[in-house]
Amino acid sequence: MARVVVIGAGIMGLATAYNLAKRGVRDVLVVDRTYLCGGASGRNGGGVRAQFSSETNIRLMRESIAICRDFATEMKINVWFRQGGYLFLARSAERARALEENVALQNRCGLPTRMVDAAEMRKIVPELATEGVRAASFNPGDGVVFPWPFVWGYARAAEDLGVTIRPFTEVVGFETSNGRITGVRLRPTRLSPLDASDEVLPAGDATTEACDEVVICAGAWSPKVAALLGVALPNKPHRHEICATEPLKPWLGPLVADLTDGLYFSQSMRGEIVGGVAVDPVPEGINQQSSRRFLTTYSRALVGAVPVLAGVRVLRQWAGCYDLTPDGGPIVGRVADPTNLTLACGFMGHGFMMAPVMGRLLAEHVDTGETSELFARWSLDRFARGDLVHENMIIG
Ligand SMILES: Cc1cc2nc3c(=O)[nH]c(=O)nc-3n(C[C@H](O)[C@H](O)[C@H](O)COP(=O)(O)OP(=O)(O)OC[C@H]3O[C@@H](n4cnc5c(N)ncnc54)[C@H](O)[C@@H]3O)c2cc1C
Repeated sequence: MARVVVIGAGIMGLATAYNLAKRGVRDVLVVDRTYLCGGASGRNGGGVRAQFSSETNIRLMRESIAICRDFATEMKINVWFRQGGYLFLARSAERARALEENVALQNRCGLPTRMVDAAEMRKIVPELATEGVRAASFNPGDGVVFPWPFVWGYARAAEDLGVTIRPFTEVVGFETSNGRITGVRLRPTRLSPLDASDEVLPAGDATTEACDEVVICAGAWSPKVAALLGVALPNKPHRHEICATEPLKPWLGPLVADLTDGLYFSQSMRGEIVGGVAVDPVPEGINQQSSRRFLTTYSRALVGAVPVLAGVRVLRQWAGCYDLTPDGGPIVGRVADPTNLTLACGFMGHGFMMAPVMGRLLAEHVDTGETSELFARWSLDRFARGDLVHENMIIG
């Protein structure tokens, strides 16, 4: 019998489980249909920023960045956190105005973000081609982490506090009674070694784990999992590709992001240039396959932005899924039916950076049942009410 079953051992599920255990909640079980880092949490760019257009995201990300800063000490694992800032480029007058408005809001929230002109852009990144760039915003406190040890750090710390993590365990159904979930149907899985898409194969019979509470942290798979309970979610998976080059000497301070074509790139602590670009259209549904088209589009965009990178070799290319909602805000909190179900999904392309703070808030919400203004704003029923949230600083 589990007090809480968390579905999904990505960063969101593990951060929630860790914080539940830290609050003293016993018998927390985290299940995942594949392995730790099998979902978007092991496939992302590791960008961590507080430059957003909504006060909620700015304030939450200030807290998350503070948690990232202390993570290595608290969890005793090196997450390669480096605060080189984020440089957001605007190519049109309209985007430049939007950046200016966002900077003003960020300053009111206590961030030192500033608008920079072409000369200052070249001071921050001397190799950047600035023709056509009208303006940029820069927050020196933004940064990057290496996602894998971040996930492992939460997993190990959660287990040390008594959480059980079961990889290769898929939720295939639920048992319910009187509007509550009473059990989760779990089936062992395995991966086919020949299938690059990470589709799982059944590896045994399903069994039932009785439980008090369920939290769906299944990222882009969340609509599929929620549908097993008759809960319809509006979020959709959207493949997003990314690649890493051979390691170079440290030369690039910030993560550079261009909201026009979705190009972004940063230099990891290991020296690789890690980045991506928007490539449309993408295949429908969950798809984690890489494409050659991405590589050509990204190479052109990257070399256009930093011509000196023309000869650099790509070492690795991979893909994952953004979890897109119609308004760009996540779906978080308890639902009306079943009453013991909490959702934490729809985090677009910034769920990794949100997890440190959201894990804490979700654990409090699940443990106490208390709801806050944030959970009301990001609730599932906002879509039915037409009370949508808007965030315009979304990369890719
Ligand atoms: C290419 C790319 C770049 C990105 N860059 C950034 C970035 O720079 N910064 C940032 O903050 N975010 C970034 N993101 C987004 C970020 O990775 C996600 O928002 C975040 O990792 C979501 O975490 P999660 O735990 O909610 O989901 P996931 O990490 O996807 O975890 C969900 C888990 O649920 C499991 N699951 C699914 N169905 C079931 C089931 N039936 N039973 C059991 N388990 C199940 C899956 O196997 C998976 O492990 C990027 C994403 C991509 C794809």
